[in-house]
Formats: sequence, structure tokens, C-alpha cells
Amino acid sequence: MHFRLDSETTAFRDEVRAYLQEVLTPEFEEQTYRSGVAHDDGFAKGLIEKGYFAPGWPVEFGGQDRGPWAEQVVKELMMRFDAPVYLSETTRMVASIIRAIGSPELQERIVPAAMNGDLTIALGFTEPECGSDVAAAATRAVRDGADWVINGSKMFTTNGHIADYVFLLARTSPEKPKHKGLTMFLVPLDSTGFEAQAVWTLSGERTNITFYSDVRVGDQWRIGEIDGGWQVLGLSLQDEHASGWGPHIARLLDHAERWAQTAPAEGCRPAIANSDVRRRIARVAMEAEVSELLLRRCVWMSEQGRHPVAEGPMSKIFSTEALERASQDIVELVGPDGVRSFLDPTAPEQGRFEQLLRFSLGTTIYAGTSEVQRSIIAQRGLGLPR
Ligand SMILES: Cc1cc2nc3c(=O)[nH]c(=O)nc-3n(C[C@H](O)[C@H](O)[C@H](O)COP(=O)(O)OP(=O)(O)OC[C@H]3O[C@@H](n4cnc5c(N)ncnc54)[C@H](O)[C@@H]3O)c2cc1C
Repeated sequence: MHFRLDSETTAFRDEVRAYLQEVLTPEFEEQTYRSGVAHDDGFAKGLIEKGYFAPGWPVEFGGQDRGPWAEQVVKELMMRFDAPVYLSETTRMVASIIRAIGSPELQERIVPAAMNGDLTIALGFTEPECGSDVAAAATRAVRDGADWVINGSKMFTTNGHIADYVFLLARTSPEKPKHKGLTMFLVPLDSTGFEAQAVWTLSGERTNITFYSDVRVGDQWRIGEIDGGWQVLGLSLQDEHASGWGPHIARLLDHAERWAQTAPAEGCRPAIANSDVRRRIARVAMEAEVSELLLRRCVWMSEQGRHPVAEGPMSKIFSTEALERASQDIVELVGPDGVRSFLDPTAPEQGRFEQLLRFSLGTTIYAGTSEVQRSIIAQRGLGLPR
């Protein structure tokens, strides 16, 4: 078994890479860094026009019918280039759920528009009082005639201040056991009673706390059965749990290698002449390689029709914890200059060491914390008791 790309996928990857090199200019990178927002309408539209937004989707939805490996190489490149795609990813994920189980009316109204860049969708699962235990959601949706009236608040609704809709988890039957009283809605964010307030994270990313005060939506905005929200949510969590951050480690490795060959260390010799530098860089290279293989194993399993129940969390935990280890290791290696920021003209490698160090810390939290992922491996992968 091997996870090498075939020649067609390799050619496609090279094409996408050349496009990203062209459009992700230093000016664009600075604008993204300053905004703290992982989305840019123009960039997203460009991906759609080139057919890179969802290459595995059918042509009628703007895809290229290419299959999971083409999707995978695009995902890897977006991370490798640190491209602002989070809102595009959440939009595509919800569009795929609506395409699978949404009402015909929602499918017609949302899916084509989401896939051609005319609308965007953020995720509203986490609340101020519950994140990992997402089934404890307390935001209420109460039936009122043909409508639902929503009250509550959601934490970390990333891009909730710019998206058109939020994919919202709400409690519809508080008297039922917690997993059985939830329903999913697609809430238009121009609704009266919705408010988003900025929350700035350590990584410099802007996310939001969002408030719903008597937000009224028609029943046509419900996704799935009433009280069937847990099953609908499961479709998106599966996707999140089988993730990997290896390309960010590869990005760190690129910068570390370049720094080691150019930065003077002892006397006039470059840093790479030092065996400790080589040892640490080799360690980062190994972490990048293992992370890539673990994620590609998940893609391969999905292609075989198998769900990577434990393999997905293994990929997520290993790659994010390796990213933390590697970025700390490299900052220690580079020394005080390693914490100079992107906006400091004297920062080595345009401040990428400092930026990756801060970025890495959030990766072990979102899309399921390491502790929660370990429980999934123990219970569902190894069959151990709760
Ligand atoms: C930058 C960022 C962006 C995000 N974007 C979104 C978004 O767009 N939409 C969205 O809905 N959410 C988003 N999240 C929320 C994210 O999914 C949650 O932060 C995450 O699920 C953890 O929930 P929590 O923060 O409430 O922590 P908690 O669940 O309170 O966990 C606190 C600690 O307790 C541990 N813990 C909790 N339960 C268990 C358990 N059963 N066993 C062992 N340990 C446990 C956790 O691992 C963690 O270390 C984002 C978070 C961040 C940081």
C-alpha cells in the first residue's frame, strides 16, 4: 500500500500550486494577517472560477468530478500556503450536508449559490457553557405557528460577522434526553435579533460570540428532522474529526530550512553547520511526513468506503500536537529573533516562526480537542469502556 499521488493528481496539484503562487502576493498575505479573517471574497471567487473550490464535486455544481485525491491535494496546498479558506470550507461542508439531506427547496436555494460563491455559511455549535459536550447546547428554538423563535448565544462562531448564514444547533425539546432534543437550522444572519461581537484569539484570528434574541425563522430553514439534530451534526463532526494539519508543519519546515542555510550562527558559518540545528530540522521533517501519511490514510480509507473512526482522530491529534512541538522547537532554535512578528521588517522568515507558534496552540482545541479525540480512539477504536 502506498499513498503516492498518481500522475494526473500530481499535474493537478502543480497547476493549483502555480495559481496560488501567483495570487497569494505578499500584499494579500499582509492584508489577511492584519484582518485576522480567514476569508476573502475575491480569493474564494477565483478558486471557484478555476474549478479549485470543490474539484471532487460534479461539474453541474462547479466541480471537476475528480474524486477525493484532488480534494485532498487542494486542502494540503491551502494549508501549505496558509490561504484564507476557513469560511469556504464551512460553506462547502454545510452545502454538502444540505445536498445529502436538505429539503428540495433548501437544496435548490442554497447549494448552487453556495458552490458558486454567492453565499457563505458559518458554524454555530459551540456555546459559552459547552464546546466539547456540544449536545448540551442550551440555545432554544421554540415553535410558533409556521416559524421557530430562537434565543440564546453561541461562542466561537468564526466568520459569523461576515457570513450570510449560520448552521445552528438548537434545543427544540428540553424534556428529552440531551442528544434527542436538538434540531439543526440554517439561520439567515441578516435576521432581526442577531448580533455578533468580536473575540480575538491568541493566534490573531477573529472569531465571534453571537447572540440570538427572538430571531424568527420559517420551518423551511430546518435541516433534517425535528429533534434529529444530533444525527445531522454527526455528518459535520465526522468531517472535522478526520482532519490533519501536516502541511502547516511542512510550511514551518520550509522556513526553518531556509533560515538554517542563510542565518549566520557561529563565526561566519550558516546555522545548518550546527548539528543541533540539523537534528531539530530532521525531527520536524519526520513529524511532517508522519502527519501527511496519517491524513492520507484517512482519505484512502474513505475511498475504500471505510469510515476512519479512530484513524481520523489519530491524524488530528498527531498532526496538531506535532505542529505545537515543532514550532516551539524551531522558535527555541532561532532564539529571541524567532518571536519577532510578521509586521517587523527584521523578523526572520517574515515572522512565520512566531506566527506558527501562536497558530499551533489553537489547533489542538478546535475541531475537537486532543482529550476528546483520545476518548474517541479509546472507545470507538480500541473498544475500551467509557
Ligand atoms: C479559534 C477557534 C475557532 C473556532 N471556531 C468555531 C466555529 O466556527 N464554530 C463553532 O461552533 N465552534 C468553534 N470553535 C469552538 C471549538 O470547537 C471549541 O473550542 C472546542 O470544541 C472546545 O470546547 P470549549 O472551548 O468549550 O472547551 P471545553 O469543552 O470547556 O473544554 C475545556 C477543557 O476540558 C477538556 N475536556 C472537555 N470535555 C472532556 C472530556 N469529556 N474528557 C476529557 N477532557 C475533556 C477539553 O479537552 C479542554 O482541554 C472554535 C474554537 C477556536 C479556539
